[in-house]
Amino acid sequence: MLSAPHDTSIELAKRLDARAELFQVVSSTPLGASLHQVVLSGDPTLAGVAGNDVMVRLLDAKGKHVRRRYSVRSVDHEVGQLTLWIVTGHEGAGARWAREASPGDQVDLVGPRGKITLDPLADWHLFLGDTSGLAAFYRMAESIETPGRAIFVVEVDDIDDALTAPFDEGLGVTGIFVERNGRAYDDPAGLLGGLAAFEMPAHEGHAYLFGEFHVMRALGIALADRGMQEEQLSHKAFWRAGRHNAEHGEPEKDL
Ligand SMILES: Cc1cc2nc3c(=O)[nH]c(=O)nc-3n(C[C@H](O)[C@H](O)[C@H](O)COP(=O)(O)OP(=O)(O)OC[C@H]3O[C@@H](n4cnc5c(N)ncnc54)[C@H](O)[C@@H]3O)c2cc1C
Repeated sequence: MLSAPHDTSIELAKRLDARAELFQVVSSTPLGASLHQVVLSGDPTLAGVAGNDVMVRLLDAKGKHVRRRYSVRSVDHEVGQLTLWIVTGHEGAGARWAREASPGDQVDLVGPRGKITLDPLADWHLFLGDTSGLAAFYRMAESIETPGRAIFVVEVDDIDDALTAPFDEGLGVTGIFVERNGRAYDDPAGLLGGLAAFEMPAHEGHAYLFGEFHVMRALGIALADRGMQEEQLSHKAFWRAGRHNAEHGEPEKDL
């Protein structure tokens, strides 16, 4: 049993103005065809605020340590647990860890991380992306002050992954799940179609775009074409088709 996080995690946390802590796996449960829920026990303050994520230190297939970032789905401050929703339908260090994590396994976390949080002034909030964004989308929507409005347009590989969440009665919720139907991971057609089916509400809104690198770029352009201003858009590529995420936990941005 370890008693402290690895030195490299402590150094990284210092550099990022975050904290490094050792967590223990409580459970790993499949939620859908390609989504696992992993519950960890440890210092819950690493979960930060809605929209934040934690960085997990893992072993890849070659036995090398890598880090992957996962948005926090929910946090229980009383029992000291946080929950992650991790896409597991592909082969990667993060996906494998989530599938195979067993109760009692120890893991280093660095957090809280992330700069995209809810825009408190927006009249409506549009959450747009794929299954990797669901945890952040739902936690952020749960933090909307009621009455408010949340719209979700989410592409799923399998309809089994179209998980919903119970929201406060004062929150108006519209959800559109788009099935991938064999389209390539960097093809934005599914989400562009879902977006086209949706009429932009009146007043000021904010859009949050989390998912595949190329798809997020195409959606940002589509939303700008529909009149949304730069300051109304928060987008982050969570992963990139055909490539591992880089050492810092994010996809590379070269074209
Ligand atoms: C701020 C931030 C928050 C994130 N939050 C979440 C989260 O809450 N849940 C989550 O699941 N992921 C999240 N991600 C993405 C996550 O960090 C990893 O990139 C992702 O899980 C893949 O890691 P991996 O080691 O499994 O695969 P990698 O080694 O990075 O990639 C291996 C292969 O799998 C492909 N691949 C990677 N991800 C997917 C996917 N989602 N669907 C299909 N193919 C894929 C890659 O293109 C590559 O070909 C987040 C990323 C960032 C930057």
